[in-house]
Amino acid sequence: MSKKSGKSGGLGKPETILTHTGRNPAEHFGFVNTPVFRGSTVLFETIDDLDDHDAPYRYGRNDNPTNRSVEAIITELEGAAGTVLASSGLAAITTAILSVVASGDEVLVTDTVYEPTRNFCHNMLSRFGVSTRFYDPRIGARIEELCTDKTKLIFVESPGSLTFEVQDLPAIVAVAKKRGIIVMVDNSWATPLFHRPLELGADIVVHAGTKMFVGHSDAMFGTASANAELLPQLKRGHRLQGVGASPDDAYLAARGLRTLAIRMKEHSARSTELAAWLEQQPLVEAVYHPALPSHPDHEIWKRDFTGAGSLFSVLLKTKPRHAVAAMVNHFELFGMGYSWGGYESLCLPIHPERIRTATHWDFEGCMFRIHVGLEDMDDLKTDMAAALGRYQAATA
Ligand SMILES: *Cc1c(COP(=O)(O)O)cnc(C)c1O
Repeated sequence: MSKKSGKSGGLGKPETILTHTGRNPAEHFGFVNTPVFRGSTVLFETIDDLDDHDAPYRYGRNDNPTNRSVEAIITELEGAAGTVLASSGLAAITTAILSVVASGDEVLVTDTVYEPTRNFCHNMLSRFGVSTRFYDPRIGARIEELCTDKTKLIFVESPGSLTFEVQDLPAIVAVAKKRGIIVMVDNSWATPLFHRPLELGADIVVHAGTKMFVGHSDAMFGTASANAELLPQLKRGHRLQGVGASPDDAYLAARGLRTLAIRMKEHSARSTELAAWLEQQPLVEAVYHPALPSHPDHEIWKRDFTGAGSLFSVLLKTKPRHAVAAMVNHFELFGMGYSWGGYESLCLPIHPERIRTATHWDFEGCMFRIHVGLEDMDDLKTDMAAALGRYQAATA
């Protein structure tokens, strides 16, 4: 905690970790935040200092106090042994995967994984003799049927990108533990405030820090945190690959994290409210939000999560492309763009059926992914109702 030691004590509740971990004003003339330490070269006074490989900072690529402060926050929040940083969420994911696999291994990846993660497995890992099989996100304990002697890693993302299936992580972990398989979880949607995969037995947790951690759509950032067993391997892989985050982006992530708890509380309540409201609208065929009782994985979500992310999807009755255009081209408040996690709401047409390979997505309709930001809820509903009206009117 910040006041006395500046060290991460691991004693706080999430809100207190977020406000106090990773900063030590006494080291910075009393200023509250850990400053941005830009730098490559670290100077040594003597040859003894040069030979001291336990010195906290030796070269800019590996570490600096700004980045350390963010590592400490994420480590405590996830209940991890340590954390490494990357220049994006995808870089954190690829770095973590490359740190644990070797030629001849096989990885099992959820069919609902973030598409660039899928592309990395398919187009890059394959070139190094690591094969990937995609699995049904609702597989649970039946994942055992897919495991072979070569299975090294199970990559979970829960809920899944675009379609929000919640995975039975404890069931998957039970199979993995029995067979010595590593479980890695992309926890970007829930954040460690609402879901703690390491406590459920996972080995490594990765985050698109770009999204909720940064929280203001103004930086790219990624983290990977490991339990004590896997941390040396993760750290070594991270160092060997030369991956890191810029101190400026780490600073922005730290600043975003200070308000993560209150933002997540709002995002959870708001996304659930808008999802429930949408479910009542006549044009809506289905809403995919784990906090809704109608969601097929609602019970698993209630068991393993303590809140909901900002993001969910909605399926509307089938209409031609010009109806979709009428809807999304003229929002007052909802923006259309990739990424999510900022204070501003987004609505993006999506096509999950074009991505999956292990499972079939046989819905009828047009689908949209919604990120609920921090605008007034009535204003958001008014904007969405008008958009649905335009969609409806564009039938002809
Ligand atoms: C955006 C995203 C990522 C990748 O993060 P970037 O910072 O954009 O590279 C990974 N996983 C999920 C679930 C995401 O939404």
